[in-house]
Amino acid sequence: MELKICHLYPDILNLYGDRGNILCMERRLRWRDIAVTTTNISVGMPLKAADYDLFFIGGGQDFEQEVLLEDLHGAKTAEIKAAVNDGKAFLAICGGYQMLGNYYKTWDGEQCDFTGALDLYTIGCTKRLIGNYMFTCDDLPGQTVVGFENHAGKTYLGSGVRPMGRVLAGYGNNGEDGGEGARFNNVFATYSHGCLLPKNPALCDHILQTALTYKYGDVTLPPLDDTLENSAHLYMKQRLEKK
Ligand code: GLN
Repeated sequence: MELKICHLYPDILNLYGDRGNILCMERRLRWRDIAVTTTNISVGMPLKAADYDLFFIGGGQDFEQEVLLEDLHGAKTAEIKAAVNDGKAFLAICGGYQMLGNYYKTWDGEQCDFTGALDLYTIGCTKRLIGNYMFTCDDLPGQTVVGFENHAGKTYLGSGVRPMGRVLAGYGNNGEDGGEGARFNNVFATYSHGCLLPKNPALCDHILQTALTYKYGDVTLPPLDDTLENSAHLYMKQRLEKK
């Protein structure tokens, strides 16, 4: 088996070690003797979505999101939308998550029209939603996901898009409705930055399994020794529970 990852705008959208999520996916595939290649696609480079099995988009500041708007509109938006609708797997984080939605109106009134691949929008506020946080994940019943969020945008989901889970500590999508992230087809979108997959190995495997199953039919990944990963997860979980 082989998984082809496309890292979109790696040089522009890469806050708080978001690339660590790619490294985590690559490692967990190779440890199971599954081949993986990652291709970087940035400004000025054509995107042919059919060439890839999984798309990763990291987070970025408002300025960086505005910088890539011109490149995003047109052909790239069409490829991203088609891939989402076809059921290709996506992991999108914070600014990348917002980019899959309809638009982001920044706190100072700048309107960024995004891809509209997911029915959601984001409104910037002056207070940042920041800190370590924790949420449930509907795909992984009974488990928690720990992460780190830092955003001014508050995201609101339209019909047809459901949250990834419910906030247990922290803010999540908007600090108001208790939802965190977005799920649609095989898209996983979240506000949680770089530490997401290393600290949540079950979520990493679930996303990998989703992408491999789309490509090869039912795939079950053999378990790995996650002692270290699970203790990192537990440490943060307990810290947040004490708050
Ligand atoms: N610029 C966006 C916001 O502040 C996204 C930030 C991020 O990716 N951390 O909401």
